[in-house]
Amino acid sequence: MKKVAVYCGSSKGNSPIYMEQARRLGEILVANGIDLVYGGATVGCMGAVADGVLEAGGQVIGVIPKKLADVEIAHQNLTEIHVVETMHERKALMAELADGFIALPGGSGTLEEWFEVFTWAQLDYHHKPCALLNINRYYDPIVALFDHMITEGFVKKEYKELIMLEENADALLTRMTDYQPRYIHKW
Ligand code: AMP
Repeated sequence: MKKVAVYCGSSKGNSPIYMEQARRLGEILVANGIDLVYGGATVGCMGAVADGVLEAGGQVIGVIPKKLADVEIAHQNLTEIHVVETMHERKALMAELADGFIALPGGSGTLEEWFEVFTWAQLDYHHKPCALLNINRYYDPIVALFDHMITEGFVKKEYKELIMLEENADALLTRMTDYQPRYIHKW
């Protein structure tokens, strides 16, 4: 993997662990020779992951819609910044540029972005790894929700296996690098 898209909160979260680990992920990406693709903002955990990469000497590509460049405060020191018209363009460009996807803890925006690329993997639109970095076990309820969806017959159990979930960023990157895509017949 040469480039990874990281989706994460525009907030900091209530525990310092979220910002610390977001920044730490940035450093680990650089240590593994991986560039960051992200939402281009300075706010919250988004800013922390970008700063982690930049301070470790790595490359950051930001993709931000014009309308959000002020409110989310577009990062001024990125290697590359793409200012796009719409949210849809933002997600499409991030998905195209990246070789894999990681969500850190975040809010509705983070989940929306991650679930889009995850469902595209389910539908065989791409073969890139989709991972959740389970900082502070933030995503345990998502795992529980998947179990519920499987029990109730709305998700095939094989799809849960497509989700790479780890508490440790190094372990997560190793799994993503070794990822062998397999198509599960949905229909
Ligand atoms: P949040 O997790 O809600 O703090 O949002 C994190 C990032 O996702 C922010 O940069 C939001 O602008 C972005 N975001 C929120 N909703 C969407 C959406 N529907 N499509 C694309 N990006 C979004």
